[in-house]
Amino acid sequence: AGPLLEVRDLSMHFIKRAGLRAKIVSNVRAVEGVDLTIHEGETVGLVGETGCGKSTLGRCIVRAYEPTSGQIHYRRRDGQVIDAAKLRRSQLKPYQGEVRLVFQDPYSSLNPRMNLLQIISEPLLLHGMTDRVEREQRVADLLTRVGLRPEFMRRYPHAFSGGQRQRVSIARALALDPRLVIADEAVSALDVSVRAQILNLLEDLRAEAGLTYLMITHDLGVVDYLCQRVAVMYLGRIVEFGTTEEVYGNPRHPYTETLLAAIPKPDPRQRGQRTAVTARGELPDPGDAPPGCPFSSRCPYATDLCRNEMPPLRETSTGHLAACHRTDELSLRPA
Ligand code: SF4
Ligand code: MG
Repeated sequence: AGPLLEVRDLSMHFIKRAGLRAKIVSNVRAVEGVDLTIHEGETVGLVGETGCGKSTLGRCIVRAYEPTSGQIHYRRRDGQVIDAAKLRRSQLKPYQGEVRLVFQDPYSSLNPRMNLLQIISEPLLLHGMTDRVEREQRVADLLTRVGLRPEFMRRYPHAFSGGQRQRVSIARALALDPRLVIADEAVSALDVSVRAQILNLLEDLRAEAGLTYLMITHDLGVVDYLCQRVAVMYLGRIVEFGTTEEVYGNPRHPYTETLLAAIPKPDPRQRGQRTAVTARGELPDPGDAPPGCPFSSRCPYATDLCRNEMPPLRETSTGHLAACHRTDELSLRPA
């Protein structure tokens, strides 16, 4: 069988209006020409700074957004490959049952006026599970699977801690027995100790239910812990992709080097050394990205070629891709 998900040349552009009577219009290229392949049973990380387009890409994949162009080839449970980018609103339901999103913030993503039974069974109702007893049984099972007591189903979100609420979000995402789960900053709002518990839960659920994950995060530690492969995103584009081991141990894109340098190090002497490499300046507005390499305005290695010509994403070694003109001549620092 081929990959579970194959995103090809995907773009998502937004029209941004600003100014008096919204007359100033700019085209924000939030996602630009993204290719991404995910195999069944693996956990792929998608990392980058806030505003790089990673959440937008996740929302396109679950079809919360309709992408501007490109393809989302998805191999359904019955083996048929469909292009989810082309699905019309009325055709989305079966796809959205198999491909689910777990949201970032367990505090704001759960409706405070609904109890856990209502929250978790909402997707079941939408997908036609009309029998109340059947729904309650399903919710009880789901609560147990995520490590919560079935009796909790009559309680409201405020009664629970951040970690417990994230378990509720996960139970809700699993309600329809999905195959691909896209977790957008699923642990970012949690305390470090709780974070590890949720990551372990996600890993247990993956192994037990044969799930596939796309973990969207700005936290490279999360990727190191859970993901077999990682895609690095910058200004709407994938700039590096490979196994986590390869990308962390042998980065081939200067932006990845910058991200790896920012990982906090337990040894203070090492931490001092690592501050040498940093991206200069702020992330540019995706509306006015430079014409050449999107990283050229911040890259310490930029040349005229970089500023004028877009580097293609190409294989630097087997299965390891980078979009950098100078990737072969630079020796970049690993994590
Ligand atoms: Fe830096 Fe040039 Fe590589 Fe872009 S193409 S990351 S500017 S060296
Ligand atoms: Mg985000």
